[in-house]
Amino acid sequence: MMRQAVDAADPSWTLAAWERGLREGPLDRAVTLLSAVAGLGREEAERTELGDRDAALATALERLTAGTAIRGCVRCGGCGEQLDVPVHPAALPRGPRYHPARPLEVEVAGVRIAFRLPDTGDLRALAGTDDPRAGRWLLLARCLPDGADGIDEEAAAVIEAAMEEASPGAAVTLAVDCPVCAASTVAALDVPALLWAQVQTRALALLQEVHVLARAYGWTEPDVLALSPARRAAYLELADA
Ligand SMILES: [Zn+2]
Repeated sequence: MMRQAVDAADPSWTLAAWERGLREGPLDRAVTLLSAVAGLGREEAERTELGDRDAALATALERLTAGTAIRGCVRCGGCGEQLDVPVHPAALPRGPRYHPARPLEVEVAGVRIAFRLPDTGDLRALAGTDDPRAGRWLLLARCLPDGADGIDEEAAAVIEAAMEEASPGAAVTLAVDCPVCAASTVAALDVPALLWAQVQTRALALLQEVHVLARAYGWTEPDVLALSPARRAAYLELADA
């Protein structure tokens, strides 16, 4: 299933990911982006735990933005104001803390309970659940080999803490203070959405460049995309003169 991983700064990658992602909802889009940046089949990308997924997407984001800060959007929990938060792709967590070869398990009251870490497929299964309590138990049931039937509140909390410890990148939060109402909002960082926003911006900019150069010189889309960024920029300036 392994395909060649591609460079997120490659224009044809950006356009292909954008074209496919346009037709997709957020979960499928996350799978599309991961499968492209990590060279994974869709099935494998779907089953990649969220910390690993977001670490790979954060690396692509850093590559696309050349390390500059980008703007994340958070809605204020107090007054609903849309707040801009600077996000530094280089500072996003990379890689899990667990040892891939070591089994993931916790011990509660002398009983060992094995678990696995949530992936995009689990999020998909939760998508129809509006009740956070029901969603929490559904997620646990999916991540425990024997289901969540014998699990009490204490064990559930221990398992959840161990999941977060094993994969801190899966649950990155931002705390933002609202300049309007001074309320503090803690929001989950949506790495796939941040990468998708960059892919969209970049794809539209590339299409604009193709449009200008194709008109000026009669070149095809592949001709224009094959130019290095420096040459493309130089020709754009000449075409504009
Ligand atoms: Zn506010």
